[in-house]
Amino acid sequence: MSTNKPCLQSHVNEVKPGGTVAPILISTDKTRLTEFVGGKTAYPVYMTVGNIPKRLQRKPSQHACVLIAYLSVDKIDRSAMGMSDQDHRIRVQRVFHEAMRVVLEPLIEAGKKGMEMASSDGSIRDVFPLLSCYAADYPEQCLVACTKYGTCVKCRVKAAELGDHQPGEPRTASWTTSIIHEARQHSEAYQGTPIMKSRQFHTQCMSYDVAGTVYRPFWNGFPLCDIHQAIVPDILHQLYQGVFKHLVGWCQKAVGAGHLDARIRALPPSYGVRHFKNGISVLSQISGGERKNMAKILLGCLVGMMPKDGILAVTALLDFIYIAQYSAHNSTTLGYLDDALKRFHQHQDYFIKLGVWEDFNIPKFHSLLHYISSIKLFGTTDNYNTELFEQLHIDFAKEGWRASNQKDEFPQMINWLSRHEKIAAFAAYLKSFQPIAQANISADMPMPLSTTPNQSTPPISIAKHPAFPKSPITVAQEKHNAPDFDHYLKVYINSLLPAPLPLRQLDNHTLPFKRVHIFNQFSLHHTAIHDDEPDSPDVVRALRKSAAHPYGRFDTVVVLVNDSAESTGLAGKSIICFFINQCVICILFRYKDWPSASDFHHTRYARYITRPTRAPCYMAWWSTGIC
Ligand SMILES: [Zn+2]
Repeated sequence: MSTNKPCLQSHVNEVKPGGTVAPILISTDKTRLTEFVGGKTAYPVYMTVGNIPKRLQRKPSQHACVLIAYLSVDKIDRSAMGMSDQDHRIRVQRVFHEAMRVVLEPLIEAGKKGMEMASSDGSIRDVFPLLSCYAADYPEQCLVACTKYGTCVKCRVKAAELGDHQPGEPRTASWTTSIIHEARQHSEAYQGTPIMKSRQFHTQCMSYDVAGTVYRPFWNGFPLCDIHQAIVPDILHQLYQGVFKHLVGWCQKAVGAGHLDARIRALPPSYGVRHFKNGISVLSQISGGERKNMAKILLGCLVGMMPKDGILAVTALLDFIYIAQYSAHNSTTLGYLDDALKRFHQHQDYFIKLGVWEDFNIPKFHSLLHYISSIKLFGTTDNYNTELFEQLHIDFAKEGWRASNQKDEFPQMINWLSRHEKIAAFAAYLKSFQPIAQANISADMPMPLSTTPNQSTPPISIAKHPAFPKSPITVAQEKHNAPDFDHYLKVYINSLLPAPLPLRQLDNHTLPFKRVHIFNQFSLHHTAIHDDEPDSPDVVRALRKSAAHPYGRFDTVVVLVNDSAESTGLAGKSIICFFINQCVICILFRYKDWPSASDFHHTRYARYITRPTRAPCYMAWWSTGIC
């Protein structure tokens, strides 16, 4: 995580020159311990430190994120106390802030004066843990930042103006506390019962779009902490479960849910794309993973059913969702993000004119305006995605719950967790000796020839033996649904000749062979942007008609045809993909003796032939040997 470290570091240097900033990221999220409705819940508080590389942070097994507390989930008996809904809300929010203050209070002193900690190289450093990021979904963001529900937690724009294309004046922690302080003074001077005073306080705060529930927010007094700035973008809840959820709903209304379902059902199965065999309108309780799968196919299914303005609006929003998730950003890619949002603003009125929605005064849509500033401050969104913390629920809440006897479960869960933490700490301690032992052994050994597996992995790998050896070309054309295969094979071979024939003459010539080896699949090995990314190849399949696949299976792929398309995402004009109505045929050749490898070493393995067509794009793929 980058965080606004230079700024924090300069403050820390004033207290202790050379002190180390440790940006603290906190996340809170309620989770259900049991599947049934109304079952038990837990309210864990997670913490991690921004200095830890994200490749470790996102692996629960590395224990870089720790559980620091379970907040109370006990229900308040409202009927016995005669509380109104508002009084109940106020009570619940005060309990949250008081509990969080108790949990995080040690950070105040440590953040001001620093604390000595041993770093991985064994030296003792003065570390300043500073509360810098808070990851949560929207209702919790409002709760944490003491913001009126339905407004922006980061700026002062009014609820009725959230649809404007510019953010408002920034909220700051000092501004919020001053509003709370002023309202409290007025309420104390007010003549009335404590409940009436509390309501007076609430009303005055709400007139400034500040939640008038707590007198002392938990973050008050934390050194160098601005809670409004610390609220970070949330890909899962804001983009997929918020913005994209709205978008799907509007598209369903615009083109008809039944029509959209029909197209989705008709999609052929493809690698990495979920096939919704019953459509999407029948789904209930849609998970983040399902939304991600819908995002992959939505645009392709809308082409031809929605006018240009609608398609441009959907494209722009999907561009934004994908670019916001880049694992590395620079000023150019942030420019793409800004451009995608501007394009959406330009075309969003399509949905209003159509009558499927009234306005865009939606907090999650407004939050898109704050993404670029947050990425500049805290780094890419994968540093603080709440998905990471949702994964931790399994280890830190659900496993512990299952290990308990499910009566008075929290003390048992804490015991279970602390034992597991001790075992993990001891395992890490033992592991810390391993590099030393390896170094001693390797001192007398020769260096390995190969350093990384990536260096030896070819970009494309293929099986040693074909699935259908020596198949007649006519069979390939018929059973693999490739009627023009012999033509394109001739075009390709002709292009390799020292003196290619004019294309119009090719039909007068026949291929010098009649049979080909046919392979069903190949694997594409990507070059990882970061060293820590796992090598997970994409498998591309082309299966002919069979009982299991009555129409065959031809995986859809996105092909970058030149270098300029690399950094532009799906917005790049040179990218060929299924929803821009182009047909891509990729032919892989394995020649035994002709032409020689030196004749076409650049194009030996792949060649792309494109032609515009009204058919959806597919990637058909063959391999041939001269039989
Ligand atoms: Zn805002």
